Amino acid sequence: MRLIFLGPPGAGKGTQASILAKNLGILHISTGELLRKERKEKTNRGVEAQSYIDRGALVPDRVVMEIVHEQLTKPEAKKGWILDGFPRNVSQAGVLDGLLMGMAQPTYNCVISFEVPENVLVERLKKRAITEGRTDDTPEVLRNRLQSYHEETAPLIKFYSDRQKLEIINGFMSRESVTSALKEVVEDMKKNL
Ligand code: AMP
Repeated sequence: MRLIFLGPPGAGKGTQASILAKNLGILHISTGELLRKERKEKTNRGVEAQSYIDRGALVPDRVVMEIVHEQLTKPEAKKGWILDGFPRNVSQAGVLDGLLMGMAQPTYNCVISFEVPENVLVERLKKRAITEGRTDDTPEVLRNRLQSYHEETAPLIKFYSDRQKLEIINGFMSRESVTSALKEVVEDMKKNL
């Protein structure tokens, strides 16, 4: 199973990707988490990414593509994967298609878009700022992240829907309900494999 999770910050993609990847025994690839790890370890890429993450802007495609390429070429990736928070713009989506073709990997089965009303996102992220202590969950950075979602990432909804690859999940439900809704989507997809 190869899936792409799309959605605004605070939509619950990360939590759900982690649960589903564990259930299916596939690789969870969160570019946000991998970038935060590199920032902490002060790798070259982490240092380059820092100022973008801290102001809620997208990290340059080149940096993110390198990370994704490394993940997709891991032996564990053969079993399947969930890309969480990637692609984040139409250009990354195009590069991903080329990358998968070049690696002779089967392409993604589908793209799951998590929909959550904006006021709910803001409330969730305010809470996360306290519980997880993420430096990019502050009100000002948050505004930028939501803006970058609307301007750069949301166009991917049409991009994938035009390719008949899009499934929409209502992310404004309990964590358990979202997990079961996702399970259903995956079961349906397996039937069509
Ligand atoms: P996330 O944990 O997915 O919300 O990502 C946190 C931050 O990491 C984002 O605000 C971006 O600065 C950066 N980031 C994560 N994924 C990407 C991506 N695919 N392209 C560019 N920047 C990204």
